Amino acid sequence: MSIDFATHFHAVATRIRAAEQRFQRPPESVRLLAVSKTQPAAAIVAIAAQGQRRFGENYLQEALTKIAELADLGLEWHFIGPIQANKTRSIAEHFAWVHSVDRLKIAERLNEQRPEALPPLNVCLQVNIDREATKHGLEIDEVAAVAQAVAALPRLRLRGLMAIPAPAADFATQRQPFAQLRALQEQLNATGLALDTLSMGMSDDLEAAIAEGATLVRVGTALFGPRA
Ligand SMILES: *Cc1c(COP(=O)(O)O)cnc(C)c1O
Repeated sequence: MSIDFATHFHAVATRIRAAEQRFQRPPESVRLLAVSKTQPAAAIVAIAAQGQRRFGENYLQEALTKIAELADLGLEWHFIGPIQANKTRSIAEHFAWVHSVDRLKIAERLNEQRPEALPPLNVCLQVNIDREATKHGLEIDEVAAVAQAVAALPRLRLRGLMAIPAPAADFATQRQPFAQLRALQEQLNATGLALDTLSMGMSDDLEAAIAEGATLVRVGTALFGPRA
């Protein structure tokens, strides 16, 4: 059974463009991050052949193997998984973006360990937007102080916020946590930050996220098929 990656890719691209139109978002204002965790390098090659450049990985060791194997494709790698403090050096050295910064200590280590030869590391703060759903992420009332501190770190570039809300079946319920994340970003920008990224929306809720202002959707299953 082989997966038709071209069909999957075009279906996801069409969903994103249709949602932009439906919710009056400017064309191409939503970027796609292809989430390739647990998928083999050959699947990444197949999606990259469709013109996709941004790939997201959750597990460091697995990611490093694929990054090395696919080095000549010139892909942009995003780390989106939980971060252990003893893994920050490899993340700082091998990724362009980190979406899952959930405490200041991790940001400080990434800042110290980002190689001088590379541009600043793009980071998003992960927010525990609907408390019950996940143990990861900053609590909402911690975000402002951490954002100010991270924005001052010279080897990081604070880009925005990321969240993984609990799955919800109906569209109105899906929208609620995304609306909250957008409101939080607007509050931060009102204090002088210039965050341009809302990393929210996955295979099952990307339309709801786009309705609420997502600038980057993280899509795995809809592109690659089910994970092992
Ligand atoms: C796995 C994962 C995704 C992709 O989820 P799908 O439902 O397969 O699209 C997105 N974001 C994060 C942080 C993930 O871990």
